[in-house]
Amino acid sequence: MEYLIVFFLMIISNVILKQILGVKIKKIKQLVKQKEQGLEAIEEKLPENQKICRNILKKLNLKEVVIEEDENSDTSLYIALSNKILLGKIQNRYMAVQTIAHECIHAKQSKKLQISNFILSNLYLLYFIVILFLTLFQIIHPSFLQISILFLLYLLWYLVRSYLETDAMTKAPYLAKEYLQENQILQPEELEKLMQEYERVNRMGIPFIHFQLFFSGSLKIMIYCIVCFVFAIL
Ligand SMILES: [Zn+2]
Repeated sequence: MEYLIVFFLMIISNVILKQILGVKIKKIKQLVKQKEQGLEAIEEKLPENQKICRNILKKLNLKEVVIEEDENSDTSLYIALSNKILLGKIQNRYMAVQTIAHECIHAKQSKKLQISNFILSNLYLLYFIVILFLTLFQIIHPSFLQISILFLLYLLWYLVRSYLETDAMTKAPYLAKEYLQENQILQPEELEKLMQEYERVNRMGIPFIHFQLFFSGSLKIMIYCIVCFVFAIL
């Protein structure tokens, strides 16, 4: 019964957090699909993604970071272990500068934090898989000790990851603006319009990312609670 209580508490926490953060998943999906009017002219003026990335990295004094483009992927990310930025296909072209600036900020962040994020995310996943199989094959008994350790690993990973993301997401629009101004890519009114759009995206995007991190992490705890509940009554 205790396992079910934890399971439902996790669900309730997710529902409450979604409400508190004002996360609207439908609106987020629309944001990706629909383009704001009047941004086409701005998009045409933006340089190629590789060029934007190289110039922002140069500005941040990070010339050793490797840039790789993958048109088959929809995500862009920074890989700390290989010090590489992978640039995926950016759905809305006008989002390119902010998205690339975000990854460049990740490249500038503390390596200790980046590596800790990598270790903790894998450790959490590995621990979850191991205890799940050990419980399913009845090698270990369902126990709150496993749930507590799982929760602790989750909390550590969540704190490190949310810190890294918040830092990158809040600094990205300013870095994007500086890059566009210094390189005189847009007219002042175009820059103003683009910045308003970046602000609109961040207003919805930042709470959504935090909710997504919380949800994906707590999902493993919920799955393990259900397994414990079933095996405890067998
Ligand atoms: Zn990020």
